[in-house]
Amino acid sequence: MRIAVLALQGAFIEHEQILEELGVECFEIRQKKDALVDFDGLIIPGGESTTQGKLLHELDIYDVLKSKIEAGMPVFGTCAGLILLAEKIANDDRKHFGTMKIEVVRNAYGRQLGSFDICEKFDNKDIPMVFIRAPYIKSVDSSCEILAVVDGKIVAARDKNHLVTSFHPELTSDTTVHEYFISMVNEYLNNKRG
Ligand code: GLN
Repeated sequence: MRIAVLALQGAFIEHEQILEELGVECFEIRQKKDALVDFDGLIIPGGESTTQGKLLHELDIYDVLKSKIEAGMPVFGTCAGLILLAEKIANDDRKHFGTMKIEVVRNAYGRQLGSFDICEKFDNKDIPMVFIRAPYIKSVDSSCEILAVVDGKIVAARDKNHLVTSFHPELTSDTTVHEYFISMVNEYLNNKRG
């Protein structure tokens, strides 16, 4: 198993550290040639979605990654990564990959707090969650599985090959969410092998 981490901007190194800790091989996508190789899953980190979206086009990486996602390769988006995957952004005209059937609100979780930490359930297990100017998910398609809700707002969901969190699991020492993603990649590889 080989997982790519989009490394254009934001908190990508922390994702790599967790993957390494879990014994999963990973590499960075910084330019188009990195995106063209074979890999089994993609992590889109937190940071600033507008900047990442712009760089994806400027570096001509957008189409390559979008077609891999559309072909069913597992993708995990945290915070800005979630915004990049959303089909609709309620308070922004932009749309980036737009491959996941969710509507999100940017910079809108809670009371506009810059940053806060809490412990809440993800897939029925208590884990620490770090929110940094986070989005939340306003609505999901019926095919989506809701994995975490904080203050009545959806903050983690899965739909087929997509996993998204409003919070930053890579900024804690808990590896639950990454393990969940790795099991999605294993599922994908098993199906591929038939
Ligand atoms: N507010 C950022 C955005 O809209 C996301 C914040 C984050 O990734 N921590 O892109």
